[in-house]
Amino acid sequence: MSNLPKKHLFELPDGIIYLDGNSLGPLPKGAVEAAQHTIQREWGGKLIRAWNDAGWMDLPREVGNMIAPIIGAPEGSLATGDTLSIKVYQALAAALKLRPDRRVILSDSGNFPTDLYMASGLVELLDDGYEVRTPLPADVPDAINEDVAAVLLTHVDYRSGAMYNMNAITEQAHRAGAVMIWDLAHSAGAVPLDITASKAEFAVGCTYKYLNGGPGAPAFIYARPDLIEQTKPALQGWLGHAEPFAMDREYRPAMTTERLRVGTPAILQLAVLRHALRLWINVDLGELRTASQKLSERFIEEVERRCPILELVSPREPAKRGSQVSFAFEHGYAAMQALIASGVIGDFRQPNIMRFGFTPLYLDEDDVVRAAIILEEIMSNETWRDAKYQTVSRVT
Ligand SMILES: *Cc1c(COP(=O)(O)O)cnc(C)c1O
Repeated sequence: MSNLPKKHLFELPDGIIYLDGNSLGPLPKGAVEAAQHTIQREWGGKLIRAWNDAGWMDLPREVGNMIAPIIGAPEGSLATGDTLSIKVYQALAAALKLRPDRRVILSDSGNFPTDLYMASGLVELLDDGYEVRTPLPADVPDAINEDVAAVLLTHVDYRSGAMYNMNAITEQAHRAGAVMIWDLAHSAGAVPLDITASKAEFAVGCTYKYLNGGPGAPAFIYARPDLIEQTKPALQGWLGHAEPFAMDREYRPAMTTERLRVGTPAILQLAVLRHALRLWINVDLGELRTASQKLSERFIEEVERRCPILELVSPREPAKRGSQVSFAFEHGYAAMQALIASGVIGDFRQPNIMRFGFTPLYLDEDDVVRAAIILEEIMSNETWRDAKYQTVSRVT
């Protein structure tokens, strides 16, 4: 008997079908009270004493330990804080230090721009012959060679939903002597993961997508436990120091993953994230995956039948997709705006992608069928031609 969905655990507005939990997870019930407790009782009541008395200083570690089982990592192997962009930078910088004789960062042309921007910024700063290579995703396996210091890939492509074979690519990177970094932004909480079994050196991810931590919730970074002592923190913040309150003149990194902490943790966000992560204790990720494949298969079938003008750009084989499905349509932006105005929230990605996320925690088959019917209405009536759907907002 399936234990999904768990709609009663979320505050979802009436009349909305939410197919964008891959971008910003919805508000978990009780999150407001969790935030209020931290603000009023802890901050308001305890003032600075809360760093000790309310466990604020350990909150990043506590939250890291709640994320660890979701990505198949051991306790104590995750540091949380900052944003994913920062964690990508830390992982890359540490990876390059592990392979000082090599000068290539290998990613792919479909990677999320910030990952590539962080890589090229680091290369410019190092100013020492480094380069970032970005072949097409399909050409990545052929591009892994002995020049490569670090392979930085996003496990599930944010645009197409295509998913790499984590173990196979990691093994190939290792055979070539490269360090493997996985960006799990669209995987954590979406597909079962076993980062330990993959043997990857580093993994990074964010918590406001499938993990429902709220806008701007802190990111995480995993470093393989046997490598901690060799993991050189590029951002030598005081909270990554072995003894922050020794106020040493010299930087001395903590001997645990804590060395990948940087500065003062965002306690209010962490309190909400901790609350959001509690529901994962009772989620079987295998069951979640099966449910997500069922939802996305049903959606594809309905959309292809009802809206033949939309072209599936995600892999057709469910095992090769994460938990999202994308369709290309020339007027995809306007069509998505019209869809959102009709209560079905997905999003749009350049140049012409209508993107839909499937999150079995709060979606069922009726929702996806209803979403396809509403999409069909918009496509057949060409509602999207209305001038009000043509203006592009700042966030798409
Ligand atoms: C969402 C996402 C990010 C976002 O980075 P932030 O620093 O949290 O804004 C980065 N990389 C990938 C692959 C993403 O999907």
